[in-house]
Amino acid sequence: MPKTTQEVLSAAGGRDERAIYLPLESLDKCTYCAKAAQDAKLSWCTSCAEALYCSSDCQKADWKTHKSKCGTTDRIDLQTYYPFLASIVAVSHLHPKLSHPALNHQIINSPNPNSGEIVAFPNGDKAKMILLGKPVPPSSIGSTEWWPTGTTAKIRHKLMRRIINEGLVLPINLSVCIALLSEMYTTTSSKSTPGKRRVRFSYNRSPITDFGIVHGSAPVTPQDRLAYYNIDTHTFMMGQDPNDHYWIYFTTLSGEEHFLDCNMFTFNFCILAKSDFYANANNGMPDLSVVPAFFFNRDYAKRMPLLGQLIWKPKKRVSILREARLKDLVGASANFDYHDLQSVYELMKDISGRECTDWEKEMMREFLPNTCKLLRINMHTRAYLGFPKEPNIMIETDPGEDVKTDEHDEELDKYLKKWGRRLKKGKISPEQWQKAFNSWRDKPLGAKLEMGGSPTRR
Ligand SMILES: [Zn+2]
Ligand SMILES: [Zn+2]
Repeated sequence: MPKTTQEVLSAAGGRDERAIYLPLESLDKCTYCAKAAQDAKLSWCTSCAEALYCSSDCQKADWKTHKSKCGTTDRIDLQTYYPFLASIVAVSHLHPKLSHPALNHQIINSPNPNSGEIVAFPNGDKAKMILLGKPVPPSSIGSTEWWPTGTTAKIRHKLMRRIINEGLVLPINLSVCIALLSEMYTTTSSKSTPGKRRVRFSYNRSPITDFGIVHGSAPVTPQDRLAYYNIDTHTFMMGQDPNDHYWIYFTTLSGEEHFLDCNMFTFNFCILAKSDFYANANNGMPDLSVVPAFFFNRDYAKRMPLLGQLIWKPKKRVSILREARLKDLVGASANFDYHDLQSVYELMKDISGRECTDWEKEMMREFLPNTCKLLRINMHTRAYLGFPKEPNIMIETDPGEDVKTDEHDEELDKYLKKWGRRLKKGKISPEQWQKAFNSWRDKPLGAKLEMGGSPTRR
């Protein structure tokens, strides 16, 4: 059990060496003599399973170098760990510097599910408009004072959480990836770590060889996208942009890919993980009961191979684990000393393909030390050893939303299940499945986009 957060941090901080350990990307050669796998039988170093040798001679010869990296390894399965990362993302959205205008002003129109104005913007974007009136105190958030025409408490709460979880997708996800690099993938070199224990990710026993950020878009209907207009100050603000979206990828040694997206709740994509096990005082976080988390793992990939294509359109991916520019930053971060984030800003520009705003940079500077601290506490207390093997997942339906609007999700769900079953029973080929999927995807979604163009619908 941890003592206090501060004690844990000071015990774990001030570490002497902070070098990044890069896991093997393939099992093709001897770590020492580089003899290829096809020419020799390679075996792991039995203590750490992170170096491969063709003979005991090679292992002996390499020991001088390997000694400093060798140790015992805690392998954390991503399946048990991703709700913890999702909790960090949710906690980031509660940062005291963040004050969303829609949370301290009254909502004066009726953007209830299945109603509310869809507005088209000059650049072609369309979104549901939220009109903001007079300022309201923080205590009123979620109440009828905050949103008088919100039809039920459930509806008001859902919109409130969609707004809280909105925005800053790049800085939040990048800070999670850099924290993993800095706090998990440096553990080998820590002399103060008992038994030179190190912590590494795996998925279903296959080590993670790479992780980083994917930049792309999420096809979101105008009904599910938010925009804000303050009628007193005549200021306009676009909500989170689905065409500038970011999520995290993980690659395994066996060549599988897994994706974690915790930033779609604001788009009404409501897959959540129960988080009371992760977001609590023991782990240095406020208590949260559920957090948005969509982990597209092997199960999804098998059951619904095309679901990923429906949800994301990736444009670019950037490895954080293998990003050379972060080496110095991580080396100097023993005491969370992040005054020079130039390399991170450059990285943000590379990933997004644009100059990031001062606001994004400022919040990156805020998120990074917080995220690193949470990871460091977790590495030090080894709380991950007690995380449930299977996270508790739930899908939140939209209260009061009638079938007309909800049918998009319900239909998709039914459709995928029906065809998934046929595919499983061998009644249809994967090609037929793809065809069936496409015929669904191309029709109703297109029709919905058309409908969204009319501000007077229903
Ligand atoms: Zn060898
Ligand atoms: Zn070893």
